[in-house]
Amino acid sequence: MLKKFVNHLFWSFILCIVFLVPDHIYHLFNKHYPIGLTLKFFLIMYAVSFLILSIKNKKASYVVFIFVMLLQFAQFLNFNFFGNLIYPYDVKLLFSDFDEIFLTLSSNLHIFTAPLISILPVALFMVFINKNELNVFKFEYSHILFFVLLLILPIKAYLSHNILNFFPSVKSYSIKNTLYALSYFLGKGVFENSDNIAVKKFKPYIVKELNNSTDKLNIVYVMGESCNYKYMSLFGYDKNTTPLLDSLRNDKNFEYKKIISIATNTRVSLSMFFNVIREPQNYLQLVSRKSNLFNLAKKHGFKTYFLSKQKDKVISNFLSVNDIDVYKNVYDYPTNYDTDLLKDLEKIDFDGKNFIVLHQRSSHTPYNKYYPKSFEKFHYDKNNYADYMKGTYLNSMLFTDYFLYNVIKIMKEKALKTHTKAIFIFTPDHGELVGDNGKYGHVALDINCVKIPLIIYTVNMSKPDISRFLSHYDVGKMVAKMLGFKIINPNDDNKTIYVNGVDIAGRAGFMKLERDKVYKELYGKDIKN
Ligand SMILES: [Zn+2]
Repeated sequence: MLKKFVNHLFWSFILCIVFLVPDHIYHLFNKHYPIGLTLKFFLIMYAVSFLILSIKNKKASYVVFIFVMLLQFAQFLNFNFFGNLIYPYDVKLLFSDFDEIFLTLSSNLHIFTAPLISILPVALFMVFINKNELNVFKFEYSHILFFVLLLILPIKAYLSHNILNFFPSVKSYSIKNTLYALSYFLGKGVFENSDNIAVKKFKPYIVKELNNSTDKLNIVYVMGESCNYKYMSLFGYDKNTTPLLDSLRNDKNFEYKKIISIATNTRVSLSMFFNVIREPQNYLQLVSRKSNLFNLAKKHGFKTYFLSKQKDKVISNFLSVNDIDVYKNVYDYPTNYDTDLLKDLEKIDFDGKNFIVLHQRSSHTPYNKYYPKSFEKFHYDKNNYADYMKGTYLNSMLFTDYFLYNVIKIMKEKALKTHTKAIFIFTPDHGELVGDNGKYGHVALDINCVKIPLIIYTVNMSKPDISRFLSHYDVGKMVAKMLGFKIINPNDDNKTIYVNGVDIAGRAGFMKLERDKVYKELYGKDIKN
C-alpha cells in the first residue's frame, strides 16, 4: 500500500513535469513566448497529475490527455499566429471570424510545426501510461471528478463581473491560460447576444508608410503611473513637487502640456495606447495589432524595449510581445523603485534606432512603497488618511520628477555622444484623484481621473508640433509618425475624444467628450480654432 502510494507520488511528479515541458519546448522555437513557474501553480498541477494518473477508464484517460494537449496546442498556435496569448474575447472571435482564420491558417501550414512538436512529450506519455502497468492507484470515478472540477471555472466566470481575472498571465503556462480563456467563453461569452459590443465593427484603420527618415532615431517613451498634472509645480501647483523639471522650463528643447488619457486603468490604457486605438469598443482593431507601435517599430528596423516596473497581470499582452526585443517586468528588477530603469537605459546603445518604453510603478498606491525614504520631503500625519495620502502622493511626484529628469539627462548625454536624434516623451497611463472632492484613486469615469501631463524633450531634432494635442490618442499617432507610419482612422471625426473604462472592449462604460469642452476644462478658455 505504502509502496503504491510512493509510486503514485513519483509518477504524478513525472506527469506534472511532462505537462509543463511543452511550454519550454515551444519557448525554444519562439523566444518571445513567455513562461514563469510559481510554486502555487506547480502544486496545483501536481495535484491534477495525481488525479489524472488515477483514472481507471482508459478511454477517459485518452480523452483527458487529448484535452490537455489541445489546450497547449491552441495556445502555441495562437502565439505563432498572432504573437500573443489567448484572451477571453478571442475565443468568441474565433467562432465569429472562423472562415477568415481558417483560410489564413490553411495557407500557412508551417505554423503548425512548432506547436505540434512541443506537445509531443504529452502524447508519448499518454501512450506510455496506458500501455504499461505502473502499480499506481486507479479509481472508478476519477475521470468524472476531473470533468466536474473543470466546471468550476466557467461557473466562476458566469458569476464574475471582472473579466480581468480571466486574462492570461505571462508568468504562467499554456494549460492554465487557455483554460481560463475557454472557461470565460463557456461561462459568459456564449450567453451574450450577437450584437455584443465587444465585436462591434468599425472601419479598419489605414496604416500608411511615410517617407520620413527614421535613421539614428532614439525614442524614449516613459509611460508613467497615476500622474495628475494638478499636483506638479511644472503645471502651477503651489508646492515645489517638480523642481528638476521646472528647471527645464526655459530650455528650447523642452515642452509640456495638459491632455486626457485614453482610459482610467493601467491595463486598458496601455493596451489602447500602444495600439493607437481611439474607440473604446474597437476591439477588432486592437486584436489585429495592425496599428501596434511595437509592430510598426519592428517593421522599420527599430530595436524595441518594454522595460516595466509592474507585474505581468497588469502588463497587457496586447502590447504584442512578439515585437518586443527586450521585455522585462517587475520580477526582473532588484528594488521597488523606478530608478532601476535608469541603469537599463544607460546600457542601451544609441548608435542605431531604438524604441524604448520605460514603464513606471510610481505613483501607484501605496505611494510611499515606491519611492526611497530620501524622498520623504513633504510631511504628513500617518494617522490622518487624507493627510497621509496627499503627503505620500506629493513625495512620489518628487520622485517621478527626479526619475524623469534623469531619463532626459541620460538620453541627452547618449544622443550627443553618438550624434543621434533622440526624443523623450512622457505621459502616465491615467491620472489620479488624491482627495479631490473627497475622492481617491483613478478607475471612475470622471474627467478628473484622466487629466494627465504630456512632456517632451528633444536632442538633435526639432520638436514635434503638439499644439493641437488633447488626448493620449494624439500622442500615439505622433509616435507612429516618428516610426515612419501615418495612421488614418476613418472613424475619427476630429471632434470627439474617448476615454475607456476598466474593460478593454468598452463594456464597463466609457466617456465620449467633445474636444472644445475638453479644451475649456483643461485650459479654462475656449479653443482658438
Ligand atoms: Zn495605472
